[in-house]
Amino acid sequence: MIEIPHWLDKQTDLQPNATAIELEGRVVTFNDIKEKSQRMASGLINSGVKKGDHLAILAGNRLDFVYFIHAVSYIGAVAVCLNIRLSPREIAYQLEDADVKHVYTEQEHINKASEAAHILKKQPSIIPLGTLPDSEKVMDLNQFLKLDDVFTMMYTSGTTGKPKAVMHTYGNHWFSAVSSALNLGLSTNDKWLVCLPLFHVGGFSLLMKNVVYGMPIVLLNRFDAPLVNDHIMNNNVTLVSLVTVMLQRLLKSQDELYPSTFRGALLGGGPVPEPLLQEAGQANIPVFQSYGMTETSSQIVTLSPNDAFRKLGSAGKALSPASLRVIANDGLTSPNEIGEIHVKGPMVSSGYYQHEPHAEDYLATGDLGYLDEEGFLFVVDRVKDMIISGGENVYPAEIESVLQEIKDIEEAAVTGINHEEWGEVPSAFVVVSDQSSITKEEIYNFCQKRLASYKVPRTINFVSELPRNAANKLVRRNLAQLLDEED
Ligand code: ATP
Ligand code: MG
Repeated sequence: MIEIPHWLDKQTDLQPNATAIELEGRVVTFNDIKEKSQRMASGLINSGVKKGDHLAILAGNRLDFVYFIHAVSYIGAVAVCLNIRLSPREIAYQLEDADVKHVYTEQEHINKASEAAHILKKQPSIIPLGTLPDSEKVMDLNQFLKLDDVFTMMYTSGTTGKPKAVMHTYGNHWFSAVSSALNLGLSTNDKWLVCLPLFHVGGFSLLMKNVVYGMPIVLLNRFDAPLVNDHIMNNNVTLVSLVTVMLQRLLKSQDELYPSTFRGALLGGGPVPEPLLQEAGQANIPVFQSYGMTETSSQIVTLSPNDAFRKLGSAGKALSPASLRVIANDGLTSPNEIGEIHVKGPMVSSGYYQHEPHAEDYLATGDLGYLDEEGFLFVVDRVKDMIISGGENVYPAEIESVLQEIKDIEEAAVTGINHEEWGEVPSAFVVVSDQSSITKEEIYNFCQKRLASYKVPRTINFVSELPRNAANKLVRRNLAQLLDEED
């Protein structure tokens, strides 16, 4: 089993007084983080925590989250990262499913955590992060990390079903960080802004890059477009990780060009409308499109800004030590043929907690896509969301992206509804802007001009909001319920 020196010890040895984290005007060095994390680890051990225990954290992007994560690794326990937007019932499910012994939470979420615990027969203890004893360092903290040991458990977003607990080893996180550096390159001037939540893998992976690269990060507690722009314009931020709506808001709130020191925005988590990429291009913002999932410990496929316009809408190619294939009818697809995306690499988790490990060599992602002649990946949609209408495959994402071209439409979602003749037909749900007087007929006519007739939504529903999960992702399987409520 491969062991590496604890990554935080390593950075503290290499550059103890270098800035590790900037947050709300404060600067924390690697040495500070090590001291705090080791004291926290010691406090946890003194309170009875043992190697292998499952410890949940329910907190936003704050320093205690960072100290906690490293403390867990010094003990050899497992950190279960909970989304602060989950309901008590959803939290209860995850606490039970993940066999959580103790829940550490910031003051703000203590009631929610207690409510969740009360639902359960076997109740975990709830401990406010602020009350952890700041103990003197004890012996026996891990000095090495075994790459095959499980470090974190994070739940998938629950977009297609119940969320699953993805187990990540130290090795998964290590390879994810290293592969990303091999792909994007690493400069001594790099400073990465973190505005994604740390409890999801996209944000968490930046904490790993922080200690694996020894690179400073700017930690924001939430996304705030003017603040992010200010850090890019005036605080030498070179990279930022974003999801689509964040890029939209950044573009809206910025009218000056970014400085040339800004290397770009890593964009992931979901589909990106092509007009947005064009807008970013016009504003001179380099965008690294990417594809990944909780199971791949953040992005596994990335498109470099150099190819962004030549391959508009592509997610790129698999990172250095990863591979990608597209499978249909049990075989490899030909170029441009749609099939299920399979991925493989040392950053891919070996399985979900309480489930059999992934049996196959490659992980079947549940996503549909195709490779073009040059091997660039285009993500099409989720297997589960595909509509089969009169024998034709219809991809809701394609229709949604056409609907989003309509100025009055703020959000759009498409799902299949039963149809006597065709089996299923697409049905659209749209949220229109307040002042809009657009009619269903106008929307229908627009779609007819852009889409083959079998893809044109048979029904169009105006709704006030779309069903989204705690990760803010569209849950298409809940759209049909909106239909029932309307009738
Ligand atoms: P669940 O697995 O519980 O249904 P989820 O798949 O939404 O939830 P995540 O791991 O948060 O949980 O999200 C990963 C998914 O996000 C991918 O499998 C894919 O469907 C989608 N996704 C990620 N990147 C892209 C992209 N560039 N284009 C389209 N979809 C993407
Ligand atoms: Mg998934």
